[in-house]
Amino acid sequence: ENATEEQALVLEDITKQFELSTQKITEIVQHYVGEMHKGLEKNNHTLAMIPSFVIGKPTGKEVGTVLAMDLGGTNFRVCLMEFKENTEINIKQQKYRVPDEFKTGKVNMLFDYIADCVDKFLQEIGYEKKNGILDLGFTFSFPVQQTAIDKGTLLHWTKGFEAEGAVGEDIVKLMQGSLNRRQIPARVVALINDTVGTLLAHAYKRHTDALIGVILGTGTNGAYFEKISHIKKLGTFQSKSEEMIVNMEWGAFDLERKILPITMFDNKLDRESLNPRAQLFEKLISGMYLGEIVRNIILYLIDRDLLFKCVHFDYSTFKEINKQWAFDTVWVSTIEADQSSNLDDTKIVFEKYLNIYSTSLTDRQIVKKVCQIVGIRSARLGAAGLAGVISHRGAIKTGCSIGIDGSLFEFYPNFEQRLKSTFHEVFGSDAENIHLELTRDGSGVGAALAAILAVKHA
Ligand code: ADP
Repeated sequence: ENATEEQALVLEDITKQFELSTQKITEIVQHYVGEMHKGLEKNNHTLAMIPSFVIGKPTGKEVGTVLAMDLGGTNFRVCLMEFKENTEINIKQQKYRVPDEFKTGKVNMLFDYIADCVDKFLQEIGYEKKNGILDLGFTFSFPVQQTAIDKGTLLHWTKGFEAEGAVGEDIVKLMQGSLNRRQIPARVVALINDTVGTLLAHAYKRHTDALIGVILGTGTNGAYFEKISHIKKLGTFQSKSEEMIVNMEWGAFDLERKILPITMFDNKLDRESLNPRAQLFEKLISGMYLGEIVRNIILYLIDRDLLFKCVHFDYSTFKEINKQWAFDTVWVSTIEADQSSNLDDTKIVFEKYLNIYSTSLTDRQIVKKVCQIVGIRSARLGAAGLAGVISHRGAIKTGCSIGIDGSLFEFYPNFEQRLKSTFHEVFGSDAENIHLELTRDGSGVGAALAAILAVKHA
């Protein structure tokens, strides 16, 4: 059967709310550039433009053994990295799940837990204390106001973390305290954001034209190489190097809602989130949220009696899909990738994970369309932010490369093509000069490089 007229009309209306014309994208790019300027001039602007104090670029010739840790995603990760002459890196690493009770408990409990993981790791790999204190690069993927490479206070938590007693505190001090309590032979010499790490790891491989590091995973954010003379708010900061990495914290872009078109489905997500009225741009783009936006649209369609009309409806039918976060972004990806004429994989998602049986093909086609509009908007907005940075740095003619980390970029169908086609709308054929590369090892290799650069420039 085909979609009814009402189904088609409502779906068209929703689609319009999610569509971004080339004109709109161009306006967003311009607004983004303006916000970058403001953020570089003064502290506490919406687009925070946080100086990372990472100066100098990796050359690919770094040597030494350092520790790297990463907190900010689903897992906590610790690695020991040995950089050898010929860009060979010997990596030993371990992942640990961060239990939810530590995400929302006291911050000392969280950091002591992390220190315990490092302790366990060093024991497992047989590292002996007599070998000396290891320099440590700490990837901490939350908004931090940095005042030195090894000093930074947490502005606010994101991504479901809420540990008490951390906001306004120096993260390095807290972390070092926990490491010292456990007598772990490690000294935090660099605190970086995951985007900074991604850019460093990318620059290690492509030091000539690396410009931006981006995360498109649970959250989204970007960092880029900025001329120190452009970072007006740094005042008279002196350095031999011309450039410093700036962490944009772009998740907060346009909190004022001056330019981004926000739908009722986004507002519902925002209102029910742990951080209402924060991280607006991130909530339109990143993996943590796409499934929830799709779920909100599906619920709206159910409530308007336009979806799942043939589904037997009793007290338990919509129990699962009624739950906040019940719709995993991985399924959005699965549904977009579903090319079967009967949309069998989509059917499986509803049956296996949501206990919704006997959906019609039309139901599934509507759901697929819903996933597409949400996925396309995500990629186009990400591209708009990137295009803003490229314009600001005047890098479109000379060419530049972008290192990207995260499951959304890596696995979401067509994400890369959607970025590229949006670049074409903004830059025309010059868009060919933008090189995109999956850069997975930012929080490991990147943090380790930050530690090496920090010691070198100390
Ligand atoms: P993190 O950002 O937490 O370090 P990832 O880059 O793996 O880790 O991002 C995880 C996010 O990506 C989750 O929100 C998850 O739902 C989403 N995700 C995981 N796999 C896929 C996939 N195949 N397609 C789209 N999104 C995915």
